[in-house]
Amino acid sequence: MTAVLVVNSGSSSLKYQLIETDTEEVLAKGLLERIGQVQGVATHTTPDGEWTMEPALPDHGAAFDAMTRAFEEHGPTGLAGLVTAVGHRVVHGGARFFAPTLVTPQVEKDIDELAEYAPLHNPANLAGIRAALAAFPDVPHVAIFDTAFHQTMPPEAYTYAIDAAVAEKYRIRRYGFHGTSHKYVSEKAAAFLGTPLEETRTIVLHLGNGASACAVRGGESVDTSMGFTPLQGLVMGTRSGDLDPAVVFQLARFGGLGLDELDDLLNRRSGLKGLTGSADLRDVRRNADAGDEAAQVALDVYCHRIKHYVGAYLAVLGGADAIVFTAGVGENSPLIRERSLAGLEGLGIEIDAERNASAERGERRISTDASRTAVLVLPTNEELEIARQTVSALAA
Ligand code: ADP
Repeated sequence: MTAVLVVNSGSSSLKYQLIETDTEEVLAKGLLERIGQVQGVATHTTPDGEWTMEPALPDHGAAFDAMTRAFEEHGPTGLAGLVTAVGHRVVHGGARFFAPTLVTPQVEKDIDELAEYAPLHNPANLAGIRAALAAFPDVPHVAIFDTAFHQTMPPEAYTYAIDAAVAEKYRIRRYGFHGTSHKYVSEKAAAFLGTPLEETRTIVLHLGNGASACAVRGGESVDTSMGFTPLQGLVMGTRSGDLDPAVVFQLARFGGLGLDELDDLLNRRSGLKGLTGSADLRDVRRNADAGDEAAQVALDVYCHRIKHYVGAYLAVLGGADAIVFTAGVGENSPLIRERSLAGLEGLGIEIDAERNASAERGERRISTDASRTAVLVLPTNEELEIARQTVSALAA
């Protein structure tokens, strides 16, 4: 038996999954939180149970030590013999990386340089890669980039209409994110419909804490709502999504806000959190049901923005075979699904209320049989996709 260790390293957390290579069974998964603080929290889950620990997690190296100990104590044991490759999620690959890439010292350097575009994410991803290289020095490590899937976007979709020389100098363009999920889900959609991937047009709505929409034609991303950074597009847990850039000038000129404050405002204090005080859609929903007007408006804004992108991507694709909801909100909120697509019957999009409200889990169709565009709920699985891409990159 061999397995791929999938690592998703954030600034203060590290998620991992150990996935059996042939059966794709999850042998173990875990989450280490509060890296950088004296007292961390960790959970380790296997088919035999779930354990919570409180290891010291001063840095990412300590997090890998804690993970290794969790495997020794709770299994599967013999990790060194079991793991044949490590797959790493990396947020920003710029225009440099468009495929899974074997980690070399040069690749580490490139990821480090790309931190300029993703100051919150890439350094944390790199810290995870370096700690993992130290913990598993004898196996190949592969970097899987969130941006890679979107490298197929045509210039008209990725170009911002600003001074071309300035854009060129600072590499300002739309990159797009959540690519691993959009790829996985759009392939699932074609399989679900039983149509060849090359002939399938899909709109994927990845609605989690971060949220993005993607127009996929023939298995390739042709447009997506996130841009130069993951700040653009849909309303998110704490990010504003689309905004007139002049709002930034205004707040700097008249509000006296500095760059870091603006960054913090738009990335961490906006979206659902900015509108309602909570970034969690479940809270917003509860408050809206209890009559809280701000929460009701927030839901309206959230759904209106999704509808706006669905309309845009229907036009970009010339119609869609499927619209797919995925991630925390997309997979779990009938209300958001229903409201986001309400009134689109004239465009051949018709949700079946009963199917949408059903407590059924897993892959399912929630549109009526007559709906020209199928509306689907397909759970995403970024870890599995990373494991698969890691294996295929090494086989190539
Ligand atoms: P991440 O981007 O961190 O991976 P997830 O995909 O887990 O996020 O999505 C998190 C979001 O999903 C949260 O806003 C949460 O409120 C929402 N969510 C989770 N479960 C439900 C549910 N049953 N109903 C509505 N929203 C849910």
